[in-house]
Amino acid sequence: AKYLLDIIDPQPIVHLVQLEFWQWIADYYLCTLGEVMAAALPSALKLASETRIVLNLEHTFDRNLLNDKEFLILDALELRHELSISEITKILAQKSIFPLLKSLLDKKIIFISEEISEKYQPKKLSIITLNDFYEDRENLKQLFSVLERAPKQLDALLAYMKLKKEFGEVKKAAIIEEGGVNSAAIKALIDKDIFIQVDKVVSRFSSFDNSVASDFILSEDQNLAFQQIKESFIEKSTVLLHGITSSGKTQIYIRLIEEYLAKGNQVLYLLPEIALTGQMIDRLKIYFGNQIIVYHSRFNDNERAEIWQKVLTNEVKIVLGARSSVFLPFCDLGLIIVDEEHEASFKQYDPAPRYNARDIAIILGNMVKAKVLLGSATPALETYFNALSNKYGLVKLLTRYGGVKLPEIEVVSITEEKARKLNKENFSSVLLNQIDQTLAQKEQVILFQNRRGYVPVLICKTCGNTPKCINCDVSLTYHKASGKLHCHYCGYKEENITECPACGSRHIEYKGLGTEKVEDDLKVLLPDVKIARMDYDTTRNKNAHQIILNDFEDRKIDILVGTQMVAKGLDFDNITLIGIINADSMIQFPDFRAYERSFQMLSQVAGRAGRRNKQGKVIIQTYDVKHRVIKQIVANDYEGMYREEMIERKQFRYPPFYKIIQIDIKHKDLGKLLMIAEQFAKELKLHLGDLVLGPQSPLIGRVRNYYIQCIIIKIDWKNQSVVKIKNLLKEKVILFEADKLNKGAFVVVDVDPY
Ligand code: ADP
Ligand code: ZN
Ligand code: ZN
Repeated sequence: AKYLLDIIDPQPIVHLVQLEFWQWIADYYLCTLGEVMAAALPSALKLASETRIVLNLEHTFDRNLLNDKEFLILDALELRHELSISEITKILAQKSIFPLLKSLLDKKIIFISEEISEKYQPKKLSIITLNDFYEDRENLKQLFSVLERAPKQLDALLAYMKLKKEFGEVKKAAIIEEGGVNSAAIKALIDKDIFIQVDKVVSRFSSFDNSVASDFILSEDQNLAFQQIKESFIEKSTVLLHGITSSGKTQIYIRLIEEYLAKGNQVLYLLPEIALTGQMIDRLKIYFGNQIIVYHSRFNDNERAEIWQKVLTNEVKIVLGARSSVFLPFCDLGLIIVDEEHEASFKQYDPAPRYNARDIAIILGNMVKAKVLLGSATPALETYFNALSNKYGLVKLLTRYGGVKLPEIEVVSITEEKARKLNKENFSSVLLNQIDQTLAQKEQVILFQNRRGYVPVLICKTCGNTPKCINCDVSLTYHKASGKLHCHYCGYKEENITECPACGSRHIEYKGLGTEKVEDDLKVLLPDVKIARMDYDTTRNKNAHQIILNDFEDRKIDILVGTQMVAKGLDFDNITLIGIINADSMIQFPDFRAYERSFQMLSQVAGRAGRRNKQGKVIIQTYDVKHRVIKQIVANDYEGMYREEMIERKQFRYPPFYKIIQIDIKHKDLGKLLMIAEQFAKELKLHLGDLVLGPQSPLIGRVRNYYIQCIIIKIDWKNQSVVKIKNLLKEKVILFEADKLNKGAFVVVDVDPY
């Protein structure tokens, strides 16, 4: 017979539907259920198990037959009843204790049990109360006289009485502080039954006062969109709100959330990169106060576990979170909002599951019968395609709130500026003039450059050599602040060079442009202007990002230079000029989504200009003024971009017409890798034919000393069974991993890579 030793969780920590959801994810993204669970559960809720050695009290034996070491263990066990393996190892001061344990087991002196413990530690506050007995005046008087001989305890008692009068509830910590006593004095009073200590579980999150709530009225256009969304939800479970920047999508979300709360439902509000969206959190907290909780991976284990419990028990109604919050155990989810649904940061790259939170949110919505609202000014092509093909509802909001005009966009040819020698460094005369005018009106400027560091490439003018990372196949980026060359893939750093390591030449050319150089050059050109930079390098500390934004809002900064970080979560009225230093590197990036991404990114940055009462201005510097994406951005022509892109996607067999699965095979030995990858591709081609492309080297052919070969499967999902192909692939990967010839190789399968 086996006995139930312990009940780990009095209630399940997930609902049944979560398990179903996890299984769906594992099947779809071709990973294991364990990997999904690991991503979903806060680690404080994962159980730790430990082997315990317990004394067998039901068995009598002859002590004289025990040897010294066995006796030692028995002694310890009689004292403590049970011990862990590591405790026994310590007692005996020897490594191998298992033969000894086996002999004790055989003699039935001990048995082994498995203790499973929870790692979650609720936050507790010790509350002190006075024994009822001393409510009686006479008894209390007597107590005072008794305690005269113990002055510290008397101080503690006096402090308690003062605090009790003032606050009602008395914390142990408060007595220590107020009375100037240590905890020994309090413990003495507890031991004498004078004080009673109770540990109260409290929240790790401070409560939020929403008494400042101000109300608003939806504009006519907003209200129309709001009604259309609700109508659309009658038929469709997913609706796309295509609303241009500053159209007031958030206001519509707020009204919608209110309706679901009134029905008693929970709401999940997904945001990309939560660290960048402090302003959004504040805006929502004003309306929903303590009903809202924020969830993301920067919280520690115990904090995340606490949120988990609160969502599980329906104590929390609204979760505002980054992608992992889609895994929280909602019990009564009515609405999911995916804001900025086109954002790449909803996709998880590493580790598995390599999921897209937007896509699995839609699945979850279907499973629990919750409605899903996707919102974007520049929807992902896949999403827009689904909306146009009637899979999702589609609601448009194409006017800005308050009739604010979209910014005026001017395109400046870098070629021409350089030919006429008008530019200074990387700033065109047009941009510099506009900066002057903007600052003269006490307005602020954002300059966008989608690369950090100083310069990305150093080239020897004599021999053409470029310093590369020792671990990865990428050129090193020079960072002026550190004086070093950095690898942005593995973090490797080395001293900057003044002469070519290959030929010794001192003619080193700096090529390309990072935010650090933009900031640096600008400080030389505009010495009296307050310039700051916001990118990965300046925001590594927990609150650095918020400090920069606050300074910008308080106008302690005139010009903010940054990477795509400046495109997000900024809603300041005083920014009237946006400069895009160089649009080309983004547009020319070798990826089938480059045009779509550039359109999204540049529209989003441009959207920061001139909100509420002023029309803003955007200046785009480029070598390619006639490029179609540039034209589409200037015309704010999302539809045009969509149409042209879709033609190419179809022609070159990309999503949404084809489904892509990417298989990366990695190995430290290039020769072996090439052989293995070729073999694996051949095997796949045997079954799947020309759906399989590669193997080929990806853009970066080696990262952290692992060479990479990449195989792509393109599935015509309308005419082919995706499930069948996935099953086949799964089988082949398992066989691959089991094959001794492939030792040292890793396979990474990415479904719907981004
Ligand atoms: P979006 O998310 O579509 O870019 P926002 O929701 O940020 O737009 O709205 C832009 C600005 O207009 C915000 O400052 C917001 O407070 C304001 N706003 C939008 N709609 C309203 C409204 N109905 N009443 C008051 N202010 C509004
Ligand atoms: Zn050289
Ligand atoms: Zn590297």
